[in-house]
Amino acid sequence: MSGECNDQQDPVNRLLATARGDAVANPFRVTGVMMQYYYVCQRELWFASRNLEIDRENSAIVRGTRVDDSSYGDRGEENLRLGMISLDLLEDGRVVEVKPSSALTEPARMQLSYYLWYLDRVAGVERDGVLAHPTERRREDVELTPERAKKVEDAIRKIHEIVSDESPPEPEEKPFCDSCAYHDLCWC
Ligand code: SF4
Repeated sequence: MSGECNDQQDPVNRLLATARGDAVANPFRVTGVMMQYYYVCQRELWFASRNLEIDRENSAIVRGTRVDDSSYGDRGEENLRLGMISLDLLEDGRVVEVKPSSALTEPARMQLSYYLWYLDRVAGVERDGVLAHPTERRREDVELTPERAKKVEDAIRKIHEIVSDESPPEPEEKPFCDSCAYHDLCWC
């Protein structure tokens, strides 16, 4: 439970209290997808936080941020939902996050790091992770180091700041804007 204090104003502590089912005046939740969006596009994060879901599934596939279950074959996978997080699968005790493409590796790495952080801080379960790109036959080990845990907590605070804002961040052109579900809300 490192780095934790009792200050309920701190978004990290509010998230932890919410996840543990404590009485919280303003519950705060961060999903794995929100953590991923924070690193992909903060404007996209804001739109998604307002439930503006415009064909998001398809755009995620185009960008290589989501993979169909069948891509990982028949490897004894199991899906596990735990509060705010939903794990692709567990394999030999390790959390595996499956992405079709390594094009957006850092957002995927941070999504997985958030899962490891959440398991550790909320459930007291220490796990390592694997980022898998089955279509590229690539796998990367991901560990929750103290540096990475701090990065997760800093991101949670920034996510809180962004989604609490009344308006979205200004659009910034990215290579994948054309395939983004919110393209017309940014560039038309
Ligand atoms: S179109 Fe580009 S700037 Fe707009 S939300 Fe999507 S990724 Fe972000």
